[in-house]
Formats: sequence, C-alpha cells, structure tokens
Amino acid sequence: MKLSSICVHGAIDKNNRTGSLAVPIYQSATYAHPGVGQSTGYDYARVQNPTREALEGLMAALEGGRYALAFSCGMSAMDAAMTLLAPGSHVICTEDLYGGSVRLLSVLKQRLSFDVECLDTNDQTALQKALRPETAAIFIETPSNPTMRVTDIAAVRRTVGSDVKIIVDNTFLTPIFQRPLEFGADMVLHSGTKYLGGHNDTLAGFLIGNDLDDEEKLRFVTKTVGSGLTPFDSFMIIRGLKTLDLRMKKSQENALQIAVFLSHHPKVTKVRYPGLTDHPGRDISFRQTVGFGGMLSFSVDSKETAEKALERVKLILFAESLGGTETLITYPFLQTHADVPSETRARLGIDDKLLRLSVGIEDLEDLMADLTQALA
Ligand SMILES: *Cc1c(COP(=O)(O)O)cnc(C)c1O
Repeated sequence: MKLSSICVHGAIDKNNRTGSLAVPIYQSATYAHPGVGQSTGYDYARVQNPTREALEGLMAALEGGRYALAFSCGMSAMDAAMTLLAPGSHVICTEDLYGGSVRLLSVLKQRLSFDVECLDTNDQTALQKALRPETAAIFIETPSNPTMRVTDIAAVRRTVGSDVKIIVDNTFLTPIFQRPLEFGADMVLHSGTKYLGGHNDTLAGFLIGNDLDDEEKLRFVTKTVGSGLTPFDSFMIIRGLKTLDLRMKKSQENALQIAVFLSHHPKVTKVRYPGLTDHPGRDISFRQTVGFGGMLSFSVDSKETAEKALERVKLILFAESLGGTETLITYPFLQTHADVPSETRARLGIDDKLLRLSVGIEDLEDLMADLTQALA
C-alpha cells in the first residue's frame, strides 16, 4: 500500500470480533488471565493496551520500521531514547533543536555527565572532527527549528560510520515527506502532538526503528515508568493520522505560496523555507524528501514590526506548537527557544525580528489577507 492508504487502513485491531471500523478505545487498566501462567497478550495497561498497539503498528508501517512505540508526548519519547545511551556518552546534536530537546539534553549533561556538542550537522568536516570513541549518538532535526536548515542524513551516516546511533526528529516533515530510516537513520522520533495528531488537541510521541534490542529496552522503560500513550489518546492519534497525507499536502501548498508572498514583502528581510529556489538545503531536500512541509520562518525589519504582527493577527493564532489544522505564528526568541544559550541564538539569527509560521489548511486567500493586514 501507498502511504496515504496506510494512513486510512493501517491501524489494525487484532482483537476485533465485531467488524468495528474504528479501533475502539480499550479503556481498561487491567486484563483477566484465562488461566495460571496464561495471558491474552494484555495484562496491565501501563505495559500495553490494544488501542496503543494498533497505533504503534500503523506508525511502524508509515516510517518503514520494524517497531514503533507510542509515548505520552514527544519529550517522553526522547527521554526514553536517551536511556539507551550510557552515562558519560558524547552526544552530538543539530544546533537549533527544539527548545525542549535542548532542555532535556542539558538535564542529562548534569545528571548522567553527557557531553553534549551542538553543531551544524550538515557540515561533514565539523562532524568528522567532533567524533570521539565515546560518541554514542547524533541527534538531528531536519529541517531544523526554527532556521529551517537541512541535514543530509545519508552523508551523516557515511561520516559517522555504523557505531554511532543516528536519531532523527521527523516532526516537521512526517513520513509523508521524509522517511529517515531509508537514509540510514537508526531511530526516528516524533512529537505526535504536531502533524500526526494534527488538530492541536492531543499530546503524543513516537520512537520508530529497526533494532529489536532497542525495542526491548524501550518497552522496558515504558513498562517501568508508564510513559506509554493512553488508550483514549491513541484513538485520537489514529483518527488524526487518517487525514495526514491530505493535511500535509494542503499545508505545504499554502506554505509555498506564503513563502513566495513574504519574500516580496517590503517589511520582510529574509524567508527560510526549503521550497524556495534560494534555500541552501534545496538540493538535499530533493534527494531526501518528497515535500518541503508547512513550516517556515521569516525575519522582519524591526522588533516593532514583529510585535505588532503578533498582536494584529486575527485568523492566524499567536500560539506555541505547530502542525495542526490552524495556522499558528510563534516568536521563537521568547517562546520555543528561550532556553537556547544566547550566543547560539545570536549566531543562528534567532532574534527579536524572527517569526515562525506553522501553516495550516485554511483558505490561502484568507491567510494572505490576515498576513497583509498584520504586517501593514
Ligand atoms: C513539540 C516538539 C517536540 C516535543 O514534543 P511534545 O509532544 O510537545 O512533548 C519535539 N521535537 C519537535 C521538533 C517538536 O516540535
């Protein structure tokens, strides 16, 4: 099946005896045993529940992995992934990561003596130089957040060899546009809160990969600490995923037009969107992805213009998060990236003139009209 069909048909309830089309919400904390030493396959919902299991099968199919685990949110998925690394590990990551990932890595730096090194993960020379015997993992966001820089995953694989675990946060493009396991990544991470759920109403996270030893260790984590996704939220994400393909394409269509519109706007000094012809990551994008996504960022001429735009938007909402049906505008400097060290922010251009748009699926003319009045 193609991905759009998997989105619609890929969640399978192995226990279905009724013909129910929707995977039911198995809202049970515990499960009865048929006999001593026997199990239906479900014992206690912290370990596994049928709704989550159907969702995990669907996500494994979409990313092309042998396993998938669903977590209570993206950050708990990342926290679980980091348990695979020994204390004292050297971890390399993309410079402009999601702020929450930066915060978690800095906690692990203190608690487990991780040595965290942020660099341009598409600079293979810098990456080669940074490698050490203790380098355990490289954590990549591509396109990055919010400066939309693209990393060539296959090139990273060639540079780091086979001993370093490559983890790719695929939240921005989703498997509809990019499948990192096909380019040599070991593990894919998602905030399912964003495009996968798609309606700004449910938190979720995922880890997908091929190494079944990793899967066993990760299942031990969810069973032990209870970070797995609840039955109700699993149902919500299955429901959202049915329209993932449609939503990704519509928001990309809108995003491309808005990127072009903004790049001609007199108050806009720079637009970052991989679909624009002058974007430095465009060639890699053509090799590695089948779409540019619905995320873009842009710089305006002054802090005042940025603040006014945030106050004036009407249809577009000034809110954190991304990937939903609604178009959202964020101010990375004060919101998502407030925890990034100020010298890094300055170097990357995450300043008080930078705005980020998560383009939704509204009518394009309505979005253009709102941006026009907000920037006037
Ligand atoms: C939101 C986000 C996360 C964290 O996910 P939560 O579901 O909010 O915990 C991680 N990575 C990226 C790129 C995100 O946008």
